[in-house]
Amino acid sequence: MVSSLEEKCIFCEIVKREEKASIVYEDDDILAFLDISPLAKGHTLIIPKKHYVDITDIPPEMLSKISLVSKKLGENLINKLGYDGVNLMHSTGASAGQSVFHFHVHLIPRISGESIGFQEWWFSRAFHPSRKDLDKTANDLKL
Ligand code: AMP
Ligand code: ZN
Repeated sequence: MVSSLEEKCIFCEIVKREEKASIVYEDDDILAFLDISPLAKGHTLIIPKKHYVDITDIPPEMLSKISLVSKKLGENLINKLGYDGVNLMHSTGASAGQSVFHFHVHLIPRISGESIGFQEWWFSRAFHPSRKDLDKTANDLKL
């Protein structure tokens, strides 16, 4: 598990151009490149150039910048590759499926009629709590 700068981080290596990547966007703070194992053509990863591990670590201002780039690149996937939808995905923690411990957002382009298994998985896992249970959980979570 790569969880800190002391250990080898593949995304830091991409930022330093020590590892190859197919880059689609770059500015002073952010880099976006194609996922090496895409779920669809154009599947893009957006990362801060600086090493932050996950959602608990990344400063809010940097997350805002990544959101703005997500919008641009999401629209770009639709406009340039003919998709009609995009999933934005992020995993914090191994339990959530995070495998590279340098913060990143996945942009997964989608097209009507082509399943990549999300919906099937989602609906197969969903449970159906009562309104009372939903309200109790909401109350526990309220900020
Ligand atoms: P996650 O499971 O959310 O941490 O996603 C990590 C993603 O990084 C996976 O989709 C990998 O395919 C992708 N990935 C790992 N190494 C590279 C690399 N060298 N270049 C591009 N994408 C990579
Ligand atoms: Zn890193």
